[in-house]
This record gives sequence, structure tokens and C-alpha cells, in this order.
Amino acid sequence: MQHTEDKQETDKEPVLYLVVPCYNEEEVLPETARRLKEKLSALVERGKIGKGSRILFINDGSRDRTWALISRMHREDPRISGVNLSRNRGHQNALLAGLMTAKDRCDMAISMDADLQDDVDAVDEMVDKYLGGCDIVYGVRSSRKKDTFFKRFTAEGFYRVMNALGAETIFNHADYRLMSRRALEGLSRFREVNLFLRGVVPMVGYPSDLVEYERGERFAGESKYPLKKMIAFAMEGITSLSTRPIRCITGLGFLVFLVSIAMLIYSVIRWAGGDTVSGWASVICSVWAIGGLILLSLGIIGEYIGKIYLETKDRPRFLIQEVLDHEG
Ligand code: UDP
Ligand code: MG
Repeated sequence: MQHTEDKQETDKEPVLYLVVPCYNEEEVLPETARRLKEKLSALVERGKIGKGSRILFINDGSRDRTWALISRMHREDPRISGVNLSRNRGHQNALLAGLMTAKDRCDMAISMDADLQDDVDAVDEMVDKYLGGCDIVYGVRSSRKKDTFFKRFTAEGFYRVMNALGAETIFNHADYRLMSRRALEGLSRFREVNLFLRGVVPMVGYPSDLVEYERGERFAGESKYPLKKMIAFAMEGITSLSTRPIRCITGLGFLVFLVSIAMLIYSVIRWAGGDTVSGWASVICSVWAIGGLILLSLGIIGEYIGKIYLETKDRPRFLIQEVLDHEG
């Protein structure tokens, strides 16, 4: 007998939730809602998704009329749902709140930005891949032609540095992705407070695929991600996913310690040659040796702190995709 862990095997069409975090987005919301409703209707008509599919807006403590707009749209159209957060908690947390709300109501959820920078038409391909058996479908930008050189340079550098430091991320993938219900269940077991979705979703695993799309420009309003927030975001990503920076300290300590041995040999030779000021050899050797030892000890202590850090995250050690077992 084959158990497939809770993938819904009914023959009804699967329910899709479009999860959209919004922070001060009153300018773009009406248009976004219109475009997403169109997309839902088209998909329902073609029999790809169920009638219970919804657009779920998360108001991330906006200071403008965003929530008023969402509640009005909800009254006027049953396909629109909303979640109002108690205050601004940032994009990642707003997104997580949306995904966790959708988790128990949908078969699959697609997260996207409110500004329609993510090409809405990629949704069709994502849904097709879900129907073809994928649990996670990553939206990947095919090009960054529309970005400025600076944004492109910093953003692509970001993915490279992240991967070099041991945080597994999908190149040029932001937060436009489809997740099946069981992938969301998996995600919900990552209980860490500093959740960096882009790095954690690949850890969930399950069959996954990519869909390429062109990223457009924000059609109204301005970016809520200035450079300062981008740097903070990158730091968050690296420190919440990897303890490799600590290992760099250990390596550095080891290196300095090696240099101190070289210095010891060198200063003994100089001292034997007799051309040194008295006291120089002992001072220079202790400076290098103590520096190296301090760095090395910091690194070793850091390794333990890194372990404690990972333990406190209480991540699932595995998620089961399938069990094959004969009964009896
Ligand atoms: N956002 C949010 N909370 C914040 C900042 C942004 O929910 O504190 C939302 C925002 O409304 C948008 C998405 O996150 O739907 C991406 O933000 P933005 O388009 O400003 O970022 P960019 O595309 O410039 O990187
Ligand atoms: Mg944007």
C-alpha cells in the first residue's frame, strides 16, 4: 500500500490562494485586485482551479487606506479575503502570516508582491506544474533588463555572496512562488523567529521546478525596499541560515597562529645573527602568538555558539514525502 502524505487526492479542482502582502499600497491595490480577479476567473473557467479560490491580501500595518480598501473589496467580492496585522512587521513576516492563514484553506498558495512587478501570467505555468506533480514552483527572473545597473549589480551579488556563505538560495528568485499544501505544512514546522523564506523554502524540499518570467516595473507608488533595508535583509539572510562566518574566524585564527610560528623561526634566526634590539624577538613572537590564540579560541567558542544557535531554531530534521509499506 502506498501512503502519499496528505496530498489531497480528490477529483475536485484544487483551491488556489494568491497571497499578497501590502504595505501602504493604496495606489496599486485596485488595479492589482482587478488583474488578479481576472486571472482567477480565467483559471476557474478553464477548470484548472476550484471555485473556492481566493485572493488573500495581508495588510502589514499600513498607514494609508490600504485596509479600508481591502475590507471594501472583501464586501463587494467573495473572492477577496484579507488579514490585518496588528502593526508593521515587514515583508517576510507579512508573507508568512498570509501563507499560514492560507495553509488550512487551500491546496496551493502563490505568493506575490502587490505592485504587479511579478508577471501575473506566470501563474498559469505555476498551476500547470502543480497539477503535473510539483510541490514548489519558484518564479525566477529571466532577465533584469528593467532594473538599474546598480540594482542588478547589488541583487546578483547578493545571491552569489549568500551561496558562498552557505545559504542555499535559488538564483534570481524572490518571493514569487507556488507552494502546495504539504509544502506549507513543512514550512510551518520551521519555527525559527528570524525566518528568511527564500533560504528556508528550498530546505523544505519535495519535487520542485522553476518558471521564468520577466520582472516589470512598479506601476505606481514607490519601492518599500531602500538600500538600507536591502543590506539589513542580506545580513539577516546570511546570519539566519549559516554559521559559516564563524568558521571564517576559526580559519583566520589558525592562519595567524601559523604566521606566529613563522615569526618565531624568523626572529630566532635574526636574534642568532645578533642584529636585533634586545627584547624585540620575545615581544614580536608573543604579539603574533597571543593574537592567533585569541582568534582561534574565539572561533572555537563561536562553533559551539553556532551549534546552540542552530539547536534553538528547532528545525524539523526531515520531512517525509512518501512511505512504501506492505500491510500485515
Ligand atoms: N511590503 C510589506 N511590508 C513592508 C514592506 C513591503 O508587506 O514592510 C510588501 C509591499 O507592499 C510589496 C512587497 O512587500 O507587496 C514588496 O515590496 P516592494 O515592491 O516595495 O519591494 P521591491 O519590489 O522594490 O523590492
Ligand atoms: Mg516591488
